[in-house]
Amino acid sequence: MADFLFMTGKPAIRRNWRTWVEVDLGAVRKNARAAQQCLHTDQPGIVAVVKADGYGLGMVPVARAVQDVVRAFAVANVSEAMALREGGITSPVYVLGPALPWERTALVEGAGFCPSVSDVAEARAYARTAEAAGRKLSVHVVVDTGMGRMGALPAMAAEVVWEVAASRWLELDSVASHFPSADTDRHFTVEQEQGFRHLIQSLQEAGLPLERTQIANSAGLTAYTRRGGPELARAGLILYGVSPVEECRKLLSPVASWFTRITQVRTLPPGWGVSYGRTYVTSGPTRVGTLAVGYADGYPRQLSGQGAQVLIGGRRCPVLGRVTMDQLMVDVSALPVDSTVPGTEAVLFGCQGEGEITVDELAAWSGTISWDILTGLGPRVHRVYLPAPAQEAGNVEG
Ligand SMILES: *Cc1c(COP(=O)(O)O)cnc(C)c1O
Repeated sequence: MADFLFMTGKPAIRRNWRTWVEVDLGAVRKNARAAQQCLHTDQPGIVAVVKADGYGLGMVPVARAVQDVVRAFAVANVSEAMALREGGITSPVYVLGPALPWERTALVEGAGFCPSVSDVAEARAYARTAEAAGRKLSVHVVVDTGMGRMGALPAMAAEVVWEVAASRWLELDSVASHFPSADTDRHFTVEQEQGFRHLIQSLQEAGLPLERTQIANSAGLTAYTRRGGPELARAGLILYGVSPVEECRKLLSPVASWFTRITQVRTLPPGWGVSYGRTYVTSGPTRVGTLAVGYADGYPRQLSGQGAQVLIGGRRCPVLGRVTMDQLMVDVSALPVDSTVPGTEAVLFGCQGEGEITVDELAAWSGTISWDILTGLGPRVHRVYLPAPAQEAGNVEG
């Protein structure tokens, strides 16, 4: 569970946990500033995406660390938006996913929530809800320029946007779209962005008062040349120190390290099977360490037999056999015996001594993506926060 204990990072005061993830909030803050710099404007334009409990690292602590350097937050649904408010966050909150009909009242009543609108019927439903509550609602209209998930198709966009603009009870915050492949297909992304820009231009030429647009995700921040103007970008992954594209990598500070401990070390004889299915069998005497983490904690079972490694004493040790629900086994034969005693720390991703295992590496071993690794961190993994340096006012570099 999220543990709101703040700590200095000194091993001496680490709790005796079996598994925990250490989150450097100062690094999150630096990454939010780096994202802002990609926009090439002084106007704050970063929308910090903190859905799914801040990509598994803790929504409210992350939001508190960046709230004075970002323009707004984005979450998946109304429950997450309300959790941000309960955590004391007062910035505007974009609610990205389509709301269910019965969620609209809570969206209207929660001050500063900005839901998505995809079609005329949805716009009218929000207008009725807002009228019933006697308060105006800000919304963002989503246009599907290639994601194929939600929103108005380009041919319908004008109708939806004008429906919102003409309503007494609705206010058009922005027109938004989303990139399906900014990290993998630069050509498509550039064309998609141009198409979106043309659509916006034609709306503006038809007289639509539109202050803001938003299309970029993390990978989109470096994917195309910006033309200036008040553009918002929804930055998720990069806040958490993981880059979806090479260009961003050098801009980012590492945020999270995931730890567990050795519970037991044994020397297994040759020909001994390790873990379920006996998919790994020792070829000689092997010192095998057992770790206090498994797939129920979010360490992917899929990486069994895929050459995955963990760090112990800063050195890489191979994972042996299948990952089980609560435990996994690693080969510690290469390490000195006295550096593998029960309680010794192992790093599943992050830095230790000279070593580093990235979230990307763990994702590649398990055939998935970094987003999936972070959001998969389970409830037994304690979240520990290194506080951001005193949050300074203004634009002074932190
Ligand atoms: C999750 C999400 C994002 C954030 O994407 P990252 O790649 O993590 O930056 C941005 N926009 C929308 C609509 C999303 O659903």
